[in-house]
Amino acid sequence: MPTTTVVKSVPFHIPCIGQEEIRAVVETLESGWITTGPKTHSFEVAFARYFGVRHAVAVNSCTAALHLSLDAMGLKEGDEVLVPTVTFTATAEVVTYFRAKPVLVDVDPVHFNMSLEDLQRKITPKTRCIIPVHFAGHPCPMDPILDFAESNNLKVIEDAAHAIPAKYRGRTIGTISSMTAFSFYATKTLATGEGGMVTTDDDALADRVRLMRLHGMSRDAWKRYSAEGNWRYEIMEAGYKCNLTDLQAALGLVQLSRCRELWRRRERIAHRYTEALASMDAYQTPTVDADVQHAWHLYVVLVDPSKLRIHRDQVIEELRERGIGTAVHFIPLHLHRYYQENWGYRAGDFPVAENYFERCISLPIYPGMTEEDVDHVIEGLEDIAEKFRR
Ligand SMILES: *Cc1c(COP(=O)(O)O)cnc(C)c1O
Repeated sequence: MPTTTVVKSVPFHIPCIGQEEIRAVVETLESGWITTGPKTHSFEVAFARYFGVRHAVAVNSCTAALHLSLDAMGLKEGDEVLVPTVTFTATAEVVTYFRAKPVLVDVDPVHFNMSLEDLQRKITPKTRCIIPVHFAGHPCPMDPILDFAESNNLKVIEDAAHAIPAKYRGRTIGTISSMTAFSFYATKTLATGEGGMVTTDDDALADRVRLMRLHGMSRDAWKRYSAEGNWRYEIMEAGYKCNLTDLQAALGLVQLSRCRELWRRRERIAHRYTEALASMDAYQTPTVDADVQHAWHLYVVLVDPSKLRIHRDQVIEELRERGIGTAVHFIPLHLHRYYQENWGYRAGDFPVAENYFERCISLPIYPGMTEEDVDHVIEGLEDIAEKFRR
């Protein structure tokens, strides 16, 4: 018999779904109402209350939330929208739905959020909107961004896919700009598999998103199959099909109620990493400003090439051999073929983002991790730092 060593395994992510979530989904299945209906409505009400906004409009993804927000603010063909290059493609892709142009912006060298200096360089007479991304869950500097937007007559839509629950100068992310888009994708901090939300205090913007998320049908069209509903509806616009289902909303309601508890556990893991890695000069840990609450969706360490003989890619491989799952967030948009071929971007265009990308590794950070799991990740990093010291 060949001898095999059992390697302890810590996957990059495991969704935190408990018995309560499972019960809620089963109850919804048994209720007979499985698509958009009363649960979705309850989820919107609970979400708006939790975040302290007038409106929370549920949709089937953050991509849809961004798309419908751009529609509501009236984006037109030929307009330009400023988007950081370190993000998921969805942030920029939605701009192209309008035949508008995604204009990429470099990131700052501390938090890897959209750089204010580069933002100022990229504005043109065609610029209509800025989409800041609260990368990893660390809020962007919203006061200077909003000042800049106001003095240049630009709209701001926040991509808060990483930012539940996050705060900037005491204000909850989701209440700051005129519109904010959230994601409930499987790996996000509030997960329903797929799902998203738009928050806004503006009645007209909320109404437009509600209209467009379900075929441009007159309001509360979903009620037409219930006793209080009516078969009559009117199509007001050529809308889209981006409604959330009650099955997802049932999950979302439970996840929302556990949001703070789950955040506390991620925060504890982040603190353990930061404390342990402080003594290892091969890795740079995240910086957190004093005036924010970090959501800790991601915990990104940067490999220091002056201290380690191996590249980030090999560090990932070494971690994998030790049973530790990691990820890379993100390959900057300007390095992807689509953005190069269609929008003329090239390697070298965004030096801060590229330096970041060559060095970044996202470590496992999710509430289901045990203290031993965290120890295992730390020991793996320590082992690699010693073995490959320059
Ligand atoms: C996950 C993610 C999205 C897209 O979210 P979906 O709900 O999958 O559409 C958008 N922006 C960022 C920064 C993300 O990480």
